Amino acid sequence: MKTQNTIAIHGGAGTILRSKLTPEKEKAYRKALHNTIVEGAKILKKGGTAIDAVTEAVHCMEDIELFNAGKGSVFTAKGIHEMDASIMCGKSLNTGAVAGISTISNPIELAKIVMEKSQHMFFVGAGAIAFAKEHGIKEIDPNYFFNQHRFDQWKRVAGSKTAQLDHSDRVDEDKSGTVGAVAIDQYGNLAAATSTGGMTNKQQGRVGDSPIIGAGTYANNNTCAVSCTGHGEYFMRTVLAHRVSCLMELCQLSLEEACQRAIYEDLQSLGGSGGLIAVDTTGKVSFVFNSEGMYRAVKIGEQAIQTGIWRTMT
Ligand code: ASP
Repeated sequence: MKTQNTIAIHGGAGTILRSKLTPEKEKAYRKALHNTIVEGAKILKKGGTAIDAVTEAVHCMEDIELFNAGKGSVFTAKGIHEMDASIMCGKSLNTGAVAGISTISNPIELAKIVMEKSQHMFFVGAGAIAFAKEHGIKEIDPNYFFNQHRFDQWKRVAGSKTAQLDHSDRVDEDKSGTVGAVAIDQYGNLAAATSTGGMTNKQQGRVGDSPIIGAGTYANNNTCAVSCTGHGEYFMRTVLAHRVSCLMELCQLSLEEACQRAIYEDLQSLGGSGGLIAVDTTGKVSFVFNSEGMYRAVKIGEQAIQTGIWRTMT
């Protein structure tokens, strides 16, 4: 029997205040989320795999400057870009991840090639670039990632010890963030992918949760697929994405119960903020965040696409 195709995406969680998001900006975000879901859903509809759908969705968002991933990545304390990404297949439990890369336009594509072609799972820095070249992915001029808005955002905290979430209220009203996607395909296979520029003004070499399998990304055909966004250090401490899966598998919680427990109890009790998107083996989707908002969208089977920024979806 065919499973109903489902895909959900996020574009970061944080202090997204309604009062500060102009109608034009809101429209731009919703359009970007909508268009991304359309591309991911197309793949599923054609009989493509969940892995291909989440890769395509994350790739789309990496190309949109509104989001803190790929082209729109934030600046590090050194005034450069260091991106992280990962992907996981729920059927094989195979994964691929890259971290600290500055010259690849779409880190998620590289993570996918690591998953498919390497005996290893996780490449960083120069080694990741060498691996990319071996597999025909060209390096790009770092100027490709220059963005005046991000630069100004960084300049406001540059020189301080503060690393901040791209969508922190201390930055300004133009919030956006890490991107991620989760999906289930008609064959019943789950997948998750996450990509990020990390935190504005992060120290050189800092790696967040997004490329860490189990922390920012996890997929398992027995339970769910999860992609997280928020203050990465807390997601690593709670191994949050894997925790959701464990809560389902070992404590028999439903997807929604597991996600709520992980965010509102486990993450929050440590003082962490952020959110996640998740899909289970029946195609049910959860969006849970303890921040003001989380950019997100979903398409379940033939149903209409829904997008959301604050508590309710439209
Ligand atoms: N989780 C990401 C990190 O800590 C940031 C984010 O989700 O916005 O690198």
